[in-house]
Formats: sequence, structure tokens, C-alpha cells
Amino acid sequence: MTQTYADFHRRSLTERDAFWAEQARRIDWQTPPQQICDVSRPPFARWFVGGTTNLCHNAVDRHAATRPDDRALIWVSTEVGQEKVYSFAELQAEVEAMAAMFVAQGVGQGDRVLIYMPMIPEAAFAMLACARIGAIHSVVFGGFASVSLASRIEDASPKLIVSADAGSRAGKVLPYKPLLDEAITLSTHKPARVLMVDRSLAPFERVPGRDLDYAELRREHDGARVPCTWLESNSISYTLYTSGTTGKPKGVQRDVGGHAVALATSMDWIFGGKPGETYFSTSDIGWVVGHSYIVYGPLIAGMATLMYEGTPVNPDAAVLWSLVEKYRVTVMFSAPTAVRVLKKHDAALLKRHDLSSLRALFLAGEPLDEPTASWIADALGVPIIDNYWQTETGWPLLTVAHHIPGVEAVPTRLGSPGVPMYGYGVKLLDENTGQELSEPNQKGVLVIEHPLPPGALQTVWGDDARFVNTYWQSVPGLEVYSTFDWGLRDAEGYTFILGRTDDVINVAGHRLGTREIEECVSGHAAVAEVAVVGVADQLKGQVALAFVVPREAPATPEAAQALQAQIMKRVDEQLGAVARPSRVVFVSLLPKTRSGKLLRRALQAVAEGRDPGDLTTLDDPGALAQVRQRLQG
Ligand code: AMP
Repeated sequence: MTQTYADFHRRSLTERDAFWAEQARRIDWQTPPQQICDVSRPPFARWFVGGTTNLCHNAVDRHAATRPDDRALIWVSTEVGQEKVYSFAELQAEVEAMAAMFVAQGVGQGDRVLIYMPMIPEAAFAMLACARIGAIHSVVFGGFASVSLASRIEDASPKLIVSADAGSRAGKVLPYKPLLDEAITLSTHKPARVLMVDRSLAPFERVPGRDLDYAELRREHDGARVPCTWLESNSISYTLYTSGTTGKPKGVQRDVGGHAVALATSMDWIFGGKPGETYFSTSDIGWVVGHSYIVYGPLIAGMATLMYEGTPVNPDAAVLWSLVEKYRVTVMFSAPTAVRVLKKHDAALLKRHDLSSLRALFLAGEPLDEPTASWIADALGVPIIDNYWQTETGWPLLTVAHHIPGVEAVPTRLGSPGVPMYGYGVKLLDENTGQELSEPNQKGVLVIEHPLPPGALQTVWGDDARFVNTYWQSVPGLEVYSTFDWGLRDAEGYTFILGRTDDVINVAGHRLGTREIEECVSGHAAVAEVAVVGVADQLKGQVALAFVVPREAPATPEAAQALQAQIMKRVDEQLGAVARPSRVVFVSLLPKTRSGKLLRRALQAVAEGRDPGDLTTLDDPGALAQVRQRLQG
């Protein structure tokens, strides 16, 4: 007999412990959990207390033991024209060698290892090697530059940094080492060692006594055996920095056991991935999707994971589909932006390849607009599954789970990621009263009841108070986690995401804090004041627009151009090109309230050509008129 998804979801909350105890059997435990969920110290939650396990064992060793020759990691780089396939046995050997290097450098359980790397196999080896020995990895996206990197080094205080000479994007070599050296100079914390993978893309200087050569150590530790360290389920597996409303990024901290169980469950029920098949996520290991669904999730499920260094349009816009064909990809994960990029090219490029292995394409990271969803659905002829989640949750919060045995599949609905996933007690609250919205089609703040399910963040690294104050205090007196997203639920229970409630923006699926960009821009000597807002963009979803009040108005259009170029360069050098504003608009004043608070929403509305709404608190109406005029100019 099949049950409805709604009943199934309800049971996941009302019989929480029994529900997750069943799921815990999906992974190997050295000692089984003694307690499923400890909620004695809300809003914290501890999952699978007393159980000991290891992520690397579950992702690699247990498959290497039974299917050593099956494909585990497929690496393709269209940037350097290389491909390499590692079986589970080979992957285990690489990870053990890397783990041996870490151990030889004195890295042990609880020590941090910062990974600043392009999409190369060694990045995955490093993550898994950390998991193997209980070290905590902190991967920093390779597109971030020295100031962003320095703040993360400072916060994580790593004993070791693993990096490479360079990455490459669309054929352009991006040297990493100068950025890393600069970041270490800026940080008060200095790592004892830097392990460098030399791809021979960009020559670099070695710091004697600090910098180690990966190739040399790899030879030295060839054949090394490093057993997995059994870790209590609530040990820390990793931290991953994400942007918030302050300039200081938050280290989202995840556990070991809950993380493994959540991913194993989602791989089966949400993604429908099977051992021996190939999973292809086009994300980057620097983002949460890369952690959950390039490295850990597919491997835990016994699938081969395809790791891709390249863009969706190089050498041509069919490259992703050629990989689907070549490696018989069954499950694919990407972002709406990538599809919008492809949409500009001929749909016939898709038909050039045999895509018969593909069962579904999952898209996440930003709102999936209907034209994009329809275009790719028509072109591929497989279900397109929108899924909504965050760095904090680690796995989808809203989507449609089509692979739960005995449970009716929820049909997809254009424009909505879907319904709350099992384990998530999702509510929509009135912004002003904090009351739950009882009627459909009302806009409210999307929140999750305590406890968050397995796999979600434990806390903010090194700052429990920030975890509590940031996420759990938005509605006084209510124990709810705020997603900081607006949502709306229709009469059938589908949730629609209507954008952020805070100053976080989403550029091509990448989450950026406007405050970080503002801090960087305001550091330019010619800038008196700056406001950065996210503005709707056809291709990237949103782009950052900087409104700058210069100390002295540029005398000529050429001078304004030059200042804009300098500001953009500054952002490139300090934060990375991902954060670069698409345009700098010079104004003589910013729209503010009489009490001096910046009217961001009004600024954003005007930039998007919308009605700025209630302006009774606006101090000087001339400010918005000027913004309007300069935007046109
Ligand atoms: P990140 O932590 O970088 O993954 O960013 C998470 C944020 O991206 C969410 O809070 C949403 O604002 C947005 N987001 C992610 N997935 C979706 C989606 N499927 N639809 C709409 N917004 C999304």
C-alpha cells in the first residue's frame, strides 16, 4: 500500500527518532548510536549520540572492500585537456597517501586543514584524507582572493593549507600561490605548512621550511596505510564559510554521523542514485553542493562522481552533454545560471549526444525561472527537479522526493522547488507578528522548527552565540531557525521562494554578502560612501550594483570610467571576481531615512525599475531621483 507524501513527512517529525534510526542503518558504524537525537540543549541538536563512524570509510573503504575496481572518481578538465578515472581501490590509495602526509606533518583529530584548490582530484583526496583522520577541513572557493581568504585563515587557524599553483577558467590561468601568500601575510594566524600541488601552470616561489611539494611527498608515502579514525558522531567533519549580513563570514560547522546519514538518505530518496552509476554535479568543491554532491554524497552511495574543471561552453556548449554520454551519467546536478548560459546556444547541441542514461537533472542555488525550466525540460526530455536549500542545511529542504518506496511521488510544479523534505518542520511566519500563516498564498519568512534534521549545521565554528543569535532569535520566544528567505505556500502545499529577507545576494547561484563588498569598496581612498545591492539579471539571476559617493565627483566621464575600473579591480584583487559589481554608479548622496539608515530595498527597486514603495521615512527625496537619473545616464 502506498502512503501519501504528506503522511510520510508527518511521520518523519512525529516519530523522529524511529524514523532516523532506520536511516542510520544506511551507513557503517563501528559502535552503533546510543541515542538518536539529543535535544536537551536547544537550539543545538546532537544526532546519533555515542555512535562512532567515519565519513571516509563510508565514502571509500567500504566500497573499495567489495567493489575495488568500480569507478569512484572521474576527473575531466577541459581547461588542461586531461581526464583521469580512479577506481575505489585507487581512490583509497590516494587518500591514504595524502592522509599519511598530513599525519607526518603532525595533523591529527580536530586540527584544521584549509583547502584552497581548483577542481583537481587532489582537492577531493585532501577532503577525504581529513575525514579519514578526523581533521576538520575548511575548503575555500578558488575564486576568492586574498582578503576573503585571509579572513577564513584567521578564523579557521589551520595547521596546514593545501593548495595548488593555479586554476584555470575558460583557458585563462589563475595563479593561486600569490593570493595565498598575500592572504597568509594578512592573517595573524600563520599555518605551519603549505602543501603545494604543482600543475606546472604558473611558476611560483616556495617559502623554505613552510612549503612542501605534493609530488615529492606522494612518492615518499606511496603505499602508506592509514586506518580510519573512528569518530563520535558529533565530532566536527568540516567548516565551510558562507556570507551573512556582517562583513565577517560564518563558518558553517557540520558533524560526522548526521552528515553521513543525511547524505546517504538523500542520495537514495531524492536523487535516486544507485551504486555503480555515475553522478555529475557541475558545482565546485568550494561550495556546499560540491561538498555534499560532488564528494561525499555520491561516494557514500557507491556511485562514481564526475568532477569537472571547465565551463559549460568550452570547447562548445555541448561539453556537459558529451560527458553525460561518455560516462553514462544517470543523475545530474547543476544551477539555473548554467542552463541560462546554455539557452543562449542552439538546443540542437543537446541532441548531438546520446543522453539516454540520464534520468533527471536537479537544479539548485537560486530561483529557477519558468522559461529556463521549460526550455531545459523540452531539450532533455527528463524531469527537471528544482531543489531549495542552503549551506547551512547541507541537503535539500524543499523539493520533490520521487524515490521513496511505498510513498506517492509529489509531481513537480513550475516555479516552486516543491514541498518540505522529510525531517524538516517547515513553517511560514508573519514578518511582524511571528504568527504562523494559516491561509495559502501569503508571503512569510520561511523557518524550520527545532531540531534541525541530521546533516544540518551544528553551530557556527567557534561562535555558538552567533549561531543562536543569527539563526534562532528572529522571532522572539519561538524556537525556530530562520532561513532568511521569503516564502509563499499555495493551496496544495507547494512553497515558492520569493528572495532573501536580509542583505545577502545571489549571483549565478553564489551567495555573497553585500556588506563584504561594501567594506572592500569603501577601502578605496576616493570613496566616501557606498551601498551595494543585488539587482535582477537575466543570466545570473542577480548581479551586484555599487552606488558610490566619491569624495570628489569625477570631473569627466573618462575620470568616472577610470575610478569605476579601479574599484572593480580592487574587488577582484581582494575578494575575487565573483564579487565584482557589474557596474559602479556615482551619486552625490544615498537614499537614507531621517535616522540615517540606508534604504536598500528602495535602491534595489529603483535599479530594477520597480516602484520603491513607501518612502515616508526617506530623508531627501532628491536622492532617489538622482539614482534614477544616474542609472539611465
Ligand atoms: P547557499 O548557502 O550559497 O547555497 O545559498 C542559499 C540561498 O540560495 C538560499 O537561502 C536561497 O536564497 C537561495 N536558493 C538556493 N536554492 C534555491 C532554489 N532552488 N530556489 C530559490 N532560491 C534558492
